[in-house]
Amino acid sequence: MPSTTAIISHLKDTVAEGVDRSAQTLITLSHRIHADPEPAFQEHRAVAAITATAAELGLEVHSGAYGIDTALRADFGAGAPGVAIMAEYDALPGSGHACGHNVIAAIGLGAATTLHELRAELAGRVRFLGTPAEESGCGKELLAEAGAFDDLDAAMMVHPASWDLQALNGVCLSQLEVGFTGRASHSGIAPEQGRNALDAAVLAHQAIGMLAKHLAAAERVHGIITEGGDTPSIVPARVAARYYLRAADPAALAQLKHRVEDCIAGAARAAGCSAAIDFAHPDYLDLRTNPPLAAAYQANTQRLGRAFTSYETFPAAVTDAGNISHRIPVLHPTIACAPTHVMIHDAEFAHYAVSAAADQAVIDGAKALAMTVIDYLHDSTLRERISVAHTR
Ligand SMILES: [Zn+2]
Ligand SMILES: [Zn+2]
Repeated sequence: MPSTTAIISHLKDTVAEGVDRSAQTLITLSHRIHADPEPAFQEHRAVAAITATAAELGLEVHSGAYGIDTALRADFGAGAPGVAIMAEYDALPGSGHACGHNVIAAIGLGAATTLHELRAELAGRVRFLGTPAEESGCGKELLAEAGAFDDLDAAMMVHPASWDLQALNGVCLSQLEVGFTGRASHSGIAPEQGRNALDAAVLAHQAIGMLAKHLAAAERVHGIITEGGDTPSIVPARVAARYYLRAADPAALAQLKHRVEDCIAGAARAAGCSAAIDFAHPDYLDLRTNPPLAAAYQANTQRLGRAFTSYETFPAAVTDAGNISHRIPVLHPTIACAPTHVMIHDAEFAHYAVSAAADQAVIDGAKALAMTVIDYLHDSTLRERISVAHTR
């Protein structure tokens, strides 16, 4: 009987060959999603493209998973443990695929379809999950609340970036909408009857700006005014603003929310208006990195000749994969496809998300992700170390 090491090595060689065979199909998928960007919850054409490509590669994928129109699911293998391969495909309003989620989708599907070919040999289950609305809406939290991760032991994905990193530093994010309500009146004839909702919003914005001088290093508050009145001749009765709040962990985020709420309430009161705050989506939680799982991915990627940079000193980002990492171990490395001066969300990054480097990232990412799933399913010692790191 072959040793576990020999089995793992054979399976890894087989998935690498599988990805090489489907490389052109996966790259075509990546380019197709990139050419037709769709924002959160509207990723219908991306879902159709992924479903069709999966079928071409022998995997039946179902849309509408867990009650979300643009979520995808396919299950294969049997028994325990169970691993999710997560694929994102939403774009950024106004700047297309400047976060490169087309690459994530192709990597995730490439890993899933090659593992599916080996399903009879896998020591456990794999769930391919198409996870919509990462940029806005916190789609993975919605999937988790609908039970998508309840019967799984780990979840994995790979995000494109300007570096190969074991993991992303992920902080918490809360998105809030605030509506200020005052009283309309003629600005010139009857200003004394007006209560100016724009004054309330401007005061609140200034108060939050002052608050920002007294925040912890990981904390950020930034906002825009989304409705500012209709005409200068009418005192604005209705003004709306949107703020994003970032903090290191859920406790710090809760405290920051209270401080911002106080700024808004105080400003509204000063202007004789009222303010209604709506926390628009579930909060994004910080990303808990699992070091043994991240190291397993790095080892697989280094086999492919990629060089890693230390992630600890990198600026913090936000991902809804963080919410999953509070439940089960999550793998969220980055794979380089752009020069280091081009950051994700820069408009320029969108060009690199279909470059030759991005196409190579699709191939290498799919291989390394599939290999890491194999490590997880077949190496019980590694699994134990991952489990201990998760509960620490
Ligand atoms: Zn993004
Ligand atoms: Zn992203």
